[in-house]
This record gives sequence, C-alpha cells and structure tokens, in this order.
Amino acid sequence: MALEQMRPVSRRYDEDEHALPTEWVDYYWQTGRKGAPGSLGGATDGFVQVCIQAEELCFGDAGLYLRMPTAALGGSAVSAAGTPEQKERFLRPFRESPHPIWGAMAITEASAGSDSAAIQTSARYDAERDEWVLNGTKIFCTAGEGASQIEGGFVVVWATVDKTLGRGGIKSFVVPAKTPGMKLVGLEKKLGIRASDTATLVFEDCRVASANLLGGRAKAEKKAEPARAGDKGFKGAMATFDASRPIVAAMAVGVGRAALDFLVEELARQGVEIRYDSPPRSQTALERDVIDMQAELQAARLLTWRAASMMNRGRPNSLEASMAKAKAGLVVTKITQKAVELLGPPGYSKKLLVEKWMRDAKINDIYEGTQQINQLIVARRILEYSSSQLR
Ligand SMILES: Cc1cc2nc3c(=O)[nH]c(=O)nc-3n(C[C@H](O)[C@H](O)[C@H](O)COP(=O)(O)OP(=O)(O)OC[C@H]3O[C@@H](n4cnc5c(N)ncnc54)[C@H](O)[C@@H]3O)c2cc1C
Repeated sequence: MALEQMRPVSRRYDEDEHALPTEWVDYYWQTGRKGAPGSLGGATDGFVQVCIQAEELCFGDAGLYLRMPTAALGGSAVSAAGTPEQKERFLRPFRESPHPIWGAMAITEASAGSDSAAIQTSARYDAERDEWVLNGTKIFCTAGEGASQIEGGFVVVWATVDKTLGRGGIKSFVVPAKTPGMKLVGLEKKLGIRASDTATLVFEDCRVASANLLGGRAKAEKKAEPARAGDKGFKGAMATFDASRPIVAAMAVGVGRAALDFLVEELARQGVEIRYDSPPRSQTALERDVIDMQAELQAARLLTWRAASMMNRGRPNSLEASMAKAKAGLVVTKITQKAVELLGPPGYSKKLLVEKWMRDAKINDIYEGTQQINQLIVARRILEYSSSQLR
C-alpha cells in the first residue's frame, strides 16, 4: 500500500493542499482498511500492530495517512473514556458506513494547547432537554473537515462545565458530523503533512444529547452536580494520549525510515557502501552519520513498541508513551534534515521526496504534546513530582 498507493500521489497532494485525495481515500475505504489491525478480517492482537501499521503507512506518506477515513484521535478518545455502549454507537459506523467517514478530536484553542486545562470552550447542561450546549472555538483540528462535514463521522470536543474547577471541570463530548451549531470556518495552510486537513471549528450553541458525554452518568446525577458528570473526566480525556502518543511516535519512525532508506539506497547507487563491521576509527564521517541515524531510529522504534505493548497488556504506560513520543519526534527531525544535507542539492530539490519528508517530520515534535511537554512528563514521572511541582 505504502509504495503502490501512497507514494505515486504523494507530491500531488502535498502541492494541492486542500484537495481530497479521492483515489487514496476510496482505495483505503474499499480495500486497505480490511487488513488493518482491529478491522474485519484484520489482525486482532492489538496495539503494537496498530503502531507497525502507522510506521508502514507513514513510510508511504504521513499526510495521506492522516487523511485516511478512520476514527483516528476521536476514536482513541472514545476508546479511552467512553462507555461500552458509546464505543459501540460511535465506532460501529467506521465498520459499516457505506461511504468513507472520519473522526477527530478538538482540544486546542488560541490560548490553550500544551496547557489543555486552560480551555475556554464551555458546556452547559440544559436539564429540560437533557442536552449539553457547547460554545467556543477550536483550532488545528486534524481531520476536522471530514469529521465535521461528512455524515457518520464525529468530533470529540473538550469543554469545561465549570471554569472555576480548572481541569476538574473538563469533559469530552462527541459531536456528530453536521450537528447544527458546529461550523467549519477555516483550513490551515501548513509546512508539512499537507494532505491532512487541519480545521478551525466554531461551536455556537451546539447541542448534543447528554448520552454523548464520554463516560456519561445518569441524568439525575448530572442535574445535581454537572461537574461530576462523565465517569473519567479530565483523567479519562488525558488517557487518550497514552494511546495516541505511541501511534504518533510510530508515524515519526515511518517518516524517518523513508528518508534513511532512500539515503542509503542513493549512496549505494553512487558506489558508497556503509561498512558496518569496520572499526569506528576507520569509518568515514558519512558512515558514522548513517550508522548513528539507524541506531537512533531503532531506539525510537523499540521505545514505541514498548509503550504499545504495555498498553496491550493493560499496564500504565504514560511515562513510556511520552518517552517514545519525545525520542521519535526528535529523531525524525534530525534524520530527515541530515538526509537532505547528505544528499546535497538533489536532497533540497522537489524532484525527490526527501525535502517533503523533512517538512512532514517536524509536526511529530509538536502535536500530541510538544517535545518540551513530553520531556516534562517524563521528568515528573521519574522524579515523582506532581504537575504543580514541576511546570
Ligand atoms: C498540524 C497540526 C495538527 C494538530 N492537530 C490537532 C488535533 O487534531 N487536535 C488538537 O486538539 N490539537 C491539534 N494540534 C495542536 C497541537 O496539539 C498544539 O499546537 C500543541 O499541543 C502545542 O500547543 P500550543 O499550540 O498551545 O503551543 P504552546 O503551548 O503555546 O507552546 C509554544 C512553545 O512553548 C513550549 N512550552 C509550553 N509550555 C511549556 C512548559 N511548561 N515548559 C517548557 N516549554 C513549554 C512548547 O513546547 C512550544 O515549544 C495540531 C497542531 C498542528 C500544528
């Protein structure tokens, strides 16, 4: 799939940023997803395979991977914080819809990204209609166009039911595509992953059924104390990242591998073989660079698989998920830059995809927690500091 379906259209959808890559989306919906982990006919043994799939497909093209019709981050949120009934209700259409659909998750706002507890989007409970009413603006929402506009998809929206409670007031709500009051107001123009739609969504008196509060509780309880509604609250919402960070790390490894494999093949074509078994003192600077990059990429991959396999076994993996994400985000940024450098002018030219991979790489160090934020999480966990002790 990566080489035959993605690479041939890679450049086209990098340049035509907001076009829907129809041939890829249709191929994935009709054929590609059937072999995906967890899907009908696909492997069922879990999260490591989801990460391997992410690496393989991002080896093809990271932007097209993000444009695949899947529940994506929205699905991770539903899986992490939803009740069994909600998982069935919201994820079933991704198996059964007759046409491609998308899921997304909207946390980030103009003044709240890393500091997700500062979000201003509000959710008010309307007891008479047993509905939540959302108001606010979300920016940089990956797959937000498809998820908000195509019937069957959904956007998971983080909102506060009581700003005075800080993170204690934050809940996540599933807003089905085309819900009145949810408006797509813009699409971002970006440095990389340009085949992926990154949306600005406005919520104006957007009403969702109370049953769409992830982990929702009984009606009577909500009336008495809306802030306690939602079984898992902020912790449940944050648990999404334990699942999504290893996937982003795997995506980074895929992009890094694309650049590194291409570099090694190109060097071989020019008659430069990497002598892995020669002693370090007799290796050239170029050989050392390539061997270092390969070792770093493998370290990032192993951290990713460790975080994923802990998830598989139901073990807490926040530390490992952040380690993998921080390592892989940094490694892919360095590897792709170095590949451009070592290839010389052709590496910088649009005749090759290496310059694109360099642009596609950087996002892995930004979303799902920036490099600095993931390092902070690792430090807190290792040193046993709370988030208020180490900021
Ligand atoms: C292409 C793209 C797609 C995205 N997709 C989504 C999506 O689907 N859903 C969604 O909700 N969001 C999405 N985002 C948003 C992304 O997750 C945030 O941009 C990211 O978390 C950073 O938050 P911020 O923008 O508020 O930056 P800020 O928090 O303002 O960070 C700015 C800089 O300050 C640093 N910094 C911040 N706090 C600290 C600290 N305590 N210590 C040290 N350094 C710190 C950061 O590391 C960063 O370098 C996307 C962003 C992009 C660019």
